[in-house]
Amino acid sequence: TLKKSLGQNFLIDENILNNIASAAGIDGDSYVLEIGPGAGALTQVLAAQAKKVIAVEIDRRLEPVLSDTLQDFDNVSIHFGDVLKLDLHQIIGEECPADASVTVVANLPYYVTTPILMKLLTAGLPINTIVVMIQKEVASRLQADPGEKSYGSLSIAVQYMAEPKIVMTVPKTVFVPQPNVDSAVIRLDVRKEKKVKVADEDFFFRLIRASFAQRRKTLMNNLVNNLYDKTQKENLLRVLERVGIDPGRRGETLSIEEFARLSDALGDRP
Ligand code: SAM
Repeated sequence: TLKKSLGQNFLIDENILNNIASAAGIDGDSYVLEIGPGAGALTQVLAAQAKKVIAVEIDRRLEPVLSDTLQDFDNVSIHFGDVLKLDLHQIIGEECPADASVTVVANLPYYVTTPILMKLLTAGLPINTIVVMIQKEVASRLQADPGEKSYGSLSIAVQYMAEPKIVMTVPKTVFVPQPNVDSAVIRLDVRKEKKVKVADEDFFFRLIRASFAQRRKTLMNNLVNNLYDKTQKENLLRVLERVGIDPGRRGETLSIEEFARLSDALGDRP
């Protein structure tokens, strides 16, 4: 019996499985990290194409199912545990040669999409590409441009480190059981260098979170309410003028480059 609480919606469509693997551009030299192999439907497709598949699954009950599905493959190794808690440096270090670059492929458990993606992008792992099935609405947030409805701090956090591209949208009917939401496959190409250079990364993200805190408010109001206070309003206005950003704009219209400029100009104090 499947566990809804673990996001267990299994893929049953051969075409979709093949499309996911081909979007990841896997070949006989690839090292693949799969999160949540489930019953192993996607794992089989990956194992047939890759040099090696390292799979991380939280649900131990799937062990006999997986050893059955994957009995024809000798290039799959399964680690049982919570991907958010496991030491992925150690696992990749044990399973791959030191200079290997890893491709992540997964039909993710939707309840932990954001923490998993943030771990993969910020833990300093040797990952080149991430191809994942996620909730369609989250996929559009990851890919959104300034001014679009779904643009927010998650868009910036991801785009700072990777280049996102939605590969396809996927109907509910290809899953068992069917989830309540539509899905999409997104490919994230991890950048060799961050999208912008900032002097103080922590402050850059604090500034972004404050700017998006209340979505219908202006940038100025959000900064005064959530990062500074009223006594700093005049200074703040001067800095905004200096970097050429209209204080009446809403946070959600600022590009990542504008946030970087503002972050460096403010330098933690207006
Ligand atoms: N790959 C399979 C497929 O496509 O049919 C299953 C995908 S299902 C959407 C998500 C899988 O992730 C489930 O097998 C679930 O048990 C597993 N999972 C959920 N939370 C997890 C976690 N924190 N760490 C590792 N695996 C997790």
